[in-house]
Amino acid sequence: MNLYIDFDGVIYNTIDVSYKMAEKGQIAKDYERYYQFFKNLDWCEVLEKSSEINEAFSCINKIINSGKFNVYILSHVVSMKEAEFKINLIRKYLTDVTIIPVPKRISKTKMVKVKDAILIDDYPENLKEWSNAGGIAIRFDLDMDGKGFPVIDRLDEVIEMF
Ligand SMILES: [Mg+2]
Repeated sequence: MNLYIDFDGVIYNTIDVSYKMAEKGQIAKDYERYYQFFKNLDWCEVLEKSSEINEAFSCINKIINSGKFNVYILSHVVSMKEAEFKINLIRKYLTDVTIIPVPKRISKTKMVKVKDAILIDDYPENLKEWSNAGGIAIRFDLDMDGKGFPVIDRLDEVIEMF
C-alpha cells in the first residue's frame, strides 16, 4: 500500500514556528502576501527553531519495517530553497524513503497516483481533495480533532489501522 506523509505539522512543527515569524513581521492573513513571505523565508532558521513531532522519524522507520507500506514524504514547498532544506534534514534521519516536493499551488492529488493510497496530513483541505480523488485520508492532529477524518497523533498508529 502506498502511504504518503506530509512534513509540515506532521513530522516537524515548522508551521507553528513560521506562523510566529509571520506574526512578528505583521504579515496579513492575505494568501498572496503569505505566499511571498514563505517564498522569502529563511528555512535554515525555521528548521533550526523547529523540532520533530512525537518521534516522527523513528515512527516512520517503524512503519517501513512493518512491511505494510511503501512510504513517501509528500511536502508542499514554495521555493526550491525550501525543498533543499527539507530534503537535507529528512536525509539525516531517513535514508530509505522517497521524498516528493510539491509546488505549493499544485494539489498533492495532481502529483501522485491517489487511488487507494493513504495520505497523512494535518491540513483538512488537502485531506478533502485526497479523499475526493479516491484516496484514503487520515488527519494528524495533536488534539485528536479529526475534522471528519480518522485521526492520529503519532505516526506509528497507522500501522494498526491497516
Ligand atoms: Mg502540513
